[in-house]
Amino acid sequence: MLPEQRIKVMGSIKYYAAPDVRELFENIVTKLGFSHVDCGKISFFRSQGSKSRYTVARVYGLPRIWQQALGLEPHYVLEVISERYDRLTEEEKEKTLIHEALHIPRGFQGGFRHHKGNIDKRKIDRLHKAYRKCFAASASQSISVTKH
Ligand SMILES: [Zn+2]
Repeated sequence: MLPEQRIKVMGSIKYYAAPDVRELFENIVTKLGFSHVDCGKISFFRSQGSKSRYTVARVYGLPRIWQQALGLEPHYVLEVISERYDRLTEEEKEKTLIHEALHIPRGFQGGFRHHKGNIDKRKIDRLHKAYRKCFAASASQSISVTKH
């Protein structure tokens, strides 16, 4: 690659629809009973070319003032950073999406919950365990169904 081409690529973030992330996220919030999270009002993107070094994923809410200004319903965007997210194990991906789901407040009004008091490793591990338990339960259920 020529140096000038590389500069061009580095300068712009590209966003792609991420149906795989949607599927996993929907599965997680359903199994964990996060009924306040309306997946129909969340867009899922995978980005490439982000400069942030440590971010794996992030959630954006549409601020209420913008909702009012544009006459829109509350909406969220969940972005995963391809360079980091795609390298994670399945378990790490699940924990990442649990983390992001916790950023969405109960009210689902476009706001954002911060880490302090809301999101920590223990909580995520506990929820992840619960999610895996549901997963195992539904898997054994479907096995027994196919036996008949
Ligand atoms: Zn966070």
